[in-house]
Amino acid sequence: MSAVLINLLYIISSILFILGIKMLGAADTARRGNRLSSVGMLLAVVATLLYLGLDWRMVAGGIALGTIIGGIAAMRVQMTGMPEMVALFNGFGGLASLLVGVAEYIKLRDGGMSHYLEQLEKQSGVTVPDWFVMVAIGLTVLIGGITFTGSMIAYGKLAAKISGKAILFPGQKLINIILIVASFVGMGLMTIGVDSPTAVIAGLALVVLSLVLGVLMTLPIGGGDMPVVISLLNSLSGIAASMAGFIILNSVLVVAGCLVGASGIILSMIMCKAMNRSIGNVLFSGFGATTQAAGAVQGEMKASSTEDAYYVLEAAQSVVFIPGYGMAVAQAQHAVKELASLLEANGAEVRFAIHPVAGRMPGHMNVLLAEADVPYEQLCEMDQVNPIMNTVDVAIVIGANDVVNPAALNDPGSPIYGMPIINAHEAKTVYCLKRGKGTGFSGLENALFFGENTRMLYGDAKATVSALVSEFGK
Ligand code: NDP
Repeated sequence: MSAVLINLLYIISSILFILGIKMLGAADTARRGNRLSSVGMLLAVVATLLYLGLDWRMVAGGIALGTIIGGIAAMRVQMTGMPEMVALFNGFGGLASLLVGVAEYIKLRDGGMSHYLEQLEKQSGVTVPDWFVMVAIGLTVLIGGITFTGSMIAYGKLAAKISGKAILFPGQKLINIILIVASFVGMGLMTIGVDSPTAVIAGLALVVLSLVLGVLMTLPIGGGDMPVVISLLNSLSGIAASMAGFIILNSVLVVAGCLVGASGIILSMIMCKAMNRSIGNVLFSGFGATTQAAGAVQGEMKASSTEDAYYVLEAAQSVVFIPGYGMAVAQAQHAVKELASLLEANGAEVRFAIHPVAGRMPGHMNVLLAEADVPYEQLCEMDQVNPIMNTVDVAIVIGANDVVNPAALNDPGSPIYGMPIINAHEAKTVYCLKRGKGTGFSGLENALFFGENTRMLYGDAKATVSALVSEFGK
């Protein structure tokens, strides 16, 4: 296949990726967008194989193995386990880039730098110096290694294999800075020449440094900051892939890597904004290491029954549902939609207030509510719903905790102080559905549950909502 044709196919794949991402922006087109991007990826893979004329049996074996592992993992994963799976996938993407970097270094040593540069010039018409190639390899290894071990630590924290809290030790930041500087020195030494023993040792040291850095940079991040870290690591895996694209002279890998890198950074920024934090603060402040002072929240949680709640709901003119992680655990979304329809039929104005980091992955609540056919117009963002919260008759908090914790607004000593929340506490009456007295993801007590206007409906969220639905049928 000619170079012109392959580049044409790469451009078509890149267009499919971009259109696919655009369609992921709306719930009704997201599935089609996903399919479109997959077709783009298949096209890119087939075009590359035809162009390189690789041994089909090996490639087919790789595709079959990847499809089986990926297919089984995707079918078995629970909705609540998605962030862990994303962390694992990011990590393997990083590892793949690291391995590409190492393999290309070995190939360069065997085939010679001048042969590689000639090939590059023939293929792209671009002339680059030796050091550029070595820096590209160095960055691929560095970013790939950090992404791999960083994602494994993030996976361990999210899956509760290791403590989810920020793990801090004296001199941590200094050690990280020294390791980062050492990595760049190593990269510099690699440019001495692909055959030089110093460059080889520097390359090996870079592999080890990148792996250690991934661990050390992720350990001090904890609590509610994990979503941002996952999104940042996702972005890094894209950047590493794009760097790998430079060294294996594959333009579609550069484009796809840049798309993942850029969208991951944008998502991280959006989440930081939602938590009123800067990326620097997320990465370096050790959020989650501090524990709440004993007795920080005082008072009594007042339990209520679904029968009593029914009378209040039956008289309500406006109701706001505030879903959180517990709704996902209970898979209560269909029952919630049923209750919402009954309330509407009863004359109440119904809204769903969605916090950007509710649940365990970006868009988690939107996905669940879309699955239950909740009309898109009923979904409100935090900024839309907070100004009217004090006019709302009943707020129903379904398994949400951190995202409605008023300590974020009024307790300067709280680790989540400054994070925007949904102001559920301002509603005239608040019903909180949870199983018991468990804290939220960040491990903090929540004053909302102790409020004068709050009543607790204990139990699994799905059972409680179904009981409320039955009350309407009586
Ligand atoms: P939280 O994790 O803060 O709280 C969930 C609450 O749900 C718990 O208090 C728990 O209480 C209750 N719960 C659990 N299971 C059930 C059940 N079956 N029925 C009823 N209630 C249940 O959730 P939020 O959504 O409020 O906040 C999300 C948190 O997760 C934030 O801190 C966010 O930063 C973090 N995070 C977000 C990610 C994202 O991308 N969205 C990714 C990773 C983390 P009890 O045990 O008493 O039932």
